[in-house]
Amino acid sequence: MKLHPLTAAIRTQVDRTPEGEHSSPLFLTSSFCFDNAEEMRAAFADETDDNIYSRFSNPNTRELIDRVCALEGAEAGFAMASGMSAVFASFMALLRQGDHLLSCSAVFGSTHTVITKYLPKYGIESSYFAADKPETWEALIRPNTKMIYIETPTNPGLDLIDLEAIGALAKKHNIILNVDNCFATPVSQQPIRFGADLVVHSATKWLDGQGRVLGGLVVGRKDLIHEIYLFCRSTGPALSPFNAWILSKSIETLDVRMERHAANALHLATSLEGHPAIRWVRYPFLPSHPQYDIARKQMRDGGGVLCFELAGGLEAGRRFLDGLKLLSLTANLGDTRSIASHPASTTHAKLTEAERSTVGITPGLIRISAGLEHRDDVLADILGALDGVC
Ligand SMILES: *Cc1c(COP(=O)(O)O)cnc(C)c1O
Repeated sequence: MKLHPLTAAIRTQVDRTPEGEHSSPLFLTSSFCFDNAEEMRAAFADETDDNIYSRFSNPNTRELIDRVCALEGAEAGFAMASGMSAVFASFMALLRQGDHLLSCSAVFGSTHTVITKYLPKYGIESSYFAADKPETWEALIRPNTKMIYIETPTNPGLDLIDLEAIGALAKKHNIILNVDNCFATPVSQQPIRFGADLVVHSATKWLDGQGRVLGGLVVGRKDLIHEIYLFCRSTGPALSPFNAWILSKSIETLDVRMERHAANALHLATSLEGHPAIRWVRYPFLPSHPQYDIARKQMRDGGGVLCFELAGGLEAGRRFLDGLKLLSLTANLGDTRSIASHPASTTHAKLTEAERSTVGITPGLIRISAGLEHRDDVLADILGALDGVC
């Protein structure tokens, strides 16, 4: 029976054990046994897909991968211990000395560190392009460009990249297109439909959705995933079966959770626009977003993150955080609990103001991850904190 992806995300399950359990059990085992020498030989010769060792595969990890593949429309996938191990593996397994990586300029902080600090150690070149200037992209492609890496929406500025345009460009030049789909999640946006070859995820965020575990995945083209699998099998960033079990059950509620997160985020964005303490509000599904048309073309909803710029700049950002009573001050996002952060004084404080501005971080930028609390309470808390910065 051909299932809708949302059904597959709920119904795809490891085979029942003789106990007949309805929900998937937890396979906390480092290795798997064979009945005889021939079975074991065949497994090691890759003639079967039997589990051998949990660094290679595990039933809980398999279930999570299959569910995310169903949602993303991907042929294959591999799950890792964190989003960063997924990003790193996708680079190291597929790029070699002399290759060039072209990335959008606003990428997650640790991804930026990997690209600028570690890839050069292995002779891998990189350069950045501006998300909002598609007319400049093609000129940045070099003969040795092997991969284009993007995030859309970007963190924390929520710029969008036209997936159809970048997908066509990557195809034309036969370059691997690798998309970090963490912010949108596969229930809102499926980059593979627009020509992406790979999709990476920090499952730590919305896929888990409750701020409990770390995890990451890469899904996409079978041949590329096989290379990533071989890299991970040997280098060991395996996802723990326990975390896989938690994440897999979270996938069952991803669609309904994201509907509410996105509705709450849109409500906050709409309510805050025009507030005297705020210069501008940014949210993909706000008609004032400069790339609103792109958002409507490639996303089902605007996701759970919004941001705004306080007119009072850096000091107002610090005062805003101190004025909050309900929202959590924490570095994470994608939680049932709403979160506020001020990148200029925290995650990006080590950069110069000029460096911050190239990645879209202005002094008074506040990022909000909309949780699942009642929207009136969240809005009241934000409005109360804004009173203190006016
Ligand atoms: C958090 C995040 C990552 C890294 O994920 P971890 O699970 O923390 O390693 C990568 N990309 C984006 C967009 C993120 O928000």
